[in-house]
Amino acid sequence: MQARLYNFNPGPAALPLSVLEEVRDTTVEFGGRGISIMEMSHRSAPVEALAATAEQLLLELMELPSGYRVLFMGGGASMQFAMLPLNLLAEGATADYILSGSFSEKAVQEARFIGQTRIAGSTKAIHWRQVPDVGNIAIPSDSAYVHITTNNTIEGSRFNAIPQTGSVPLIADMTSDLLSRRIDYRQFDMIYAGAQKNIGPAGITAVILSEELLARCSKQIPLIWRYATYASNDSLYNTPPVHSLYVLERMLQWTKQQGGIGHLEERNRAKAALLYSVIDGSGGFYKGMIDPEHRSDMNVTWRLPSEELERQFVLEAEQRGFVGLAGHRSVGGLRASVYNAVPAAACEALAAFMQAFMGRH
Ligand SMILES: *Cc1c(COP(=O)(O)O)cnc(C)c1O
Repeated sequence: MQARLYNFNPGPAALPLSVLEEVRDTTVEFGGRGISIMEMSHRSAPVEALAATAEQLLLELMELPSGYRVLFMGGGASMQFAMLPLNLLAEGATADYILSGSFSEKAVQEARFIGQTRIAGSTKAIHWRQVPDVGNIAIPSDSAYVHITTNNTIEGSRFNAIPQTGSVPLIADMTSDLLSRRIDYRQFDMIYAGAQKNIGPAGITAVILSEELLARCSKQIPLIWRYATYASNDSLYNTPPVHSLYVLERMLQWTKQQGGIGHLEERNRAKAALLYSVIDGSGGFYKGMIDPEHRSDMNVTWRLPSEELERQFVLEAEQRGFVGLAGHRSVGGLRASVYNAVPAAACEALAAFMQAFMGRH
């Protein structure tokens, strides 16, 4: 078998080797049942147990008290951009969006099809080099909700402070930083994440929300779009992506085995700090795309002196076994996505490659 590459893909992204091997070993036959998990009814005991365990594990890892539910569904984080306002942006009400990058713009774009929105803060004018200062954001008390994207995957920035919204529900897209750092998750009324960055494979999305918020959701929309439908059926109203749910559950077990979020946060900080130290110590050869206090530990973005050199960097990196380093097509440059499952050794190898590349060019 060919050796595994250093995987810096932005999403779908690296999964731990031990999880992949476990999934391989159960692909044909799962748990002594004589068939694979892909061939099983979603109403069977093993699948019901997977959904229940995944919900409990996620609540435990996030240190959420009772009163929160975890729903699993398909459609990706992008479907949540629409499903959120369908459920929670009532006619006549206005929802507040904090804009910090292109995914946050996509979120508000969908909400505009459904109801009234307001931009509570935006750093678009400075090309997303920073995230908005949440201390300066005023939220009217009758706002339907406040939406924030805590980590900006494409730009490589993150919020270090979370806005205080009082009684207005706070809702976060945490697709690219869920379980990667200690945050007081109880500040949020709802959090959603496509699994394919930190918590599993593509095809499944986790929606974590308070029962209080659940009770406020619209009853005027089709059943399949209601959060309440997923909640009252333990995410098995219709057929969920069963195999993705299985890999997600394995990934959550792995996260727990690593020592939970606190331990992963330390590791993630060291991984990112190593890459930022090469960038900042390069005498301007590498230039970080985000102002230092706003940098993400999940997505490290930088530029080289010319686009030609950036292409050369990607090419030479690929020859040496690094994948996924080209920046998003909308912003260019380079990006290393260093989610929970990316080992420190991959970052050490990349840091050494960056030094050597700089020496050669
Ligand atoms: C990747 C990503 C999305 C889009 O997720 P899909 O599952 O592809 O819909 C949305 N928001 C953030 C922050 C992301 O990183």
